[in-house]
Amino acid sequence: MTSSPVSAPPAQPTMEQLFLGVLVIQPSPFCNINCDYCYLPHRTSTRRMEFPVLEKTMSRVFESGLVGPPFVLLWHAGEPLAVPVSWYEEAFEIINRFPGAKEKVLHTFQSNGTLLNDQWCEFIKKHNVGIGLSIDGPEFIHDFHRKTRKGEGTHAKAMRGAETLKKAGIDFGVVSVISDYSLNYPDEIYEFFRDMEIDGVGFNIEEVEGVNAESSLDQAEEDRVFQFLQRVFERNKADGFPLHIREFENARENILAPQANQAPDGRYYNLEVDPLAMLNVDCFGNFSTFSPELLGQVTDKYETFTFGNVAKQGPFEATDSEAFQKVLADIESGNRKCAESCPYWEYCGGASPSNKYYENGTFDSAETRHCRCMVQMPMQIVLSDLEERFGVTYGDRDAA
Ligand code: SF4
Ligand code: SF4
Repeated sequence: MTSSPVSAPPAQPTMEQLFLGVLVIQPSPFCNINCDYCYLPHRTSTRRMEFPVLEKTMSRVFESGLVGPPFVLLWHAGEPLAVPVSWYEEAFEIINRFPGAKEKVLHTFQSNGTLLNDQWCEFIKKHNVGIGLSIDGPEFIHDFHRKTRKGEGTHAKAMRGAETLKKAGIDFGVVSVISDYSLNYPDEIYEFFRDMEIDGVGFNIEEVEGVNAESSLDQAEEDRVFQFLQRVFERNKADGFPLHIREFENARENILAPQANQAPDGRYYNLEVDPLAMLNVDCFGNFSTFSPELLGQVTDKYETFTFGNVAKQGPFEATDSEAFQKVLADIESGNRKCAESCPYWEYCGGASPSNKYYENGTFDSAETRHCRCMVQMPMQIVLSDLEERFGVTYGDRDAA
């Protein structure tokens, strides 16, 4: 943070400066479980991406000029492991036909873990696929929201999946959704993840997004979120930081090594804000960009979040559409509001457009509960800790 809340207006990248950071592909919208906070509208549909659609997606990506450094191909937006291993065997063969794909494409699954077995582990190892699991904490917390369609808990199956990965020697991280209920249990959640001996955990507060029109946190005092995060941080610190917690590590990096998150032109590099830095493709080949949560969602305010279909156009052609230009203009305007009003701007880059849209009704806005809880609070906690340990304030650093 600078000592002044007024920062330089955001510099927008030129089209030549754009490159792909993450390609999200939805092999199927289907999910085998039914968490009550899920934002995905079509998770009962068992549609599966057809291979010509996948091939066209990859040819659009490789022909676009967007491929620079290696990019993450995240298989998600439904439960990716609900599609059989045999489908991925063929899918990976198609992808690997593209020159350079083996070096450029970093495959990752984000999974609920309930379908993991030895066959998946073999596949994951053979193709060097990254994997993250979604587990909310101990059983009584996880099963509070993450249930089957029959209303049964899913924790036991998710933990069996985690054990299967461990036995196979596959490292993994976890994403944990923090609901109003979880806020009562920072110690239990911290101890659970510390004892799991995982790569790390990322906390996502339960968001208002897509078909999840309300969040249990709507009723929660934000002070409780701060107290939760503070307690988890203090416990981890007292133990010598055995657990990597994404929000605190990002905050620390942003404070101590901000250049790590800067684009070559000096602006904060934010994948969700840079056009085409994330490409999100559904099983029909429809694609979107910016926050992946926008994929397949309907909108009253904007014409559409589907900017094209791989059968008809590539990513750059899609940016000519009025629908895309309107969304982009509002995201840029929202970022100018952030830059003018927020002392965290240089370390945030406008956070997540989807949260602005779903919380404030427009991309052309600044602060959200999501950014207060997931950007500002972790920064405050880490900054206080650094100041306490090194006896300097941020103002001192600015003056130095
Ligand atoms: S596991 Fe993920 S995709 Fe499936 S219902 Fe839960 S939140 Fe939705
Ligand atoms: S998204 Fe929130 S934290 Fe980020 S710059 Fe805007 S107001 Fe600040």
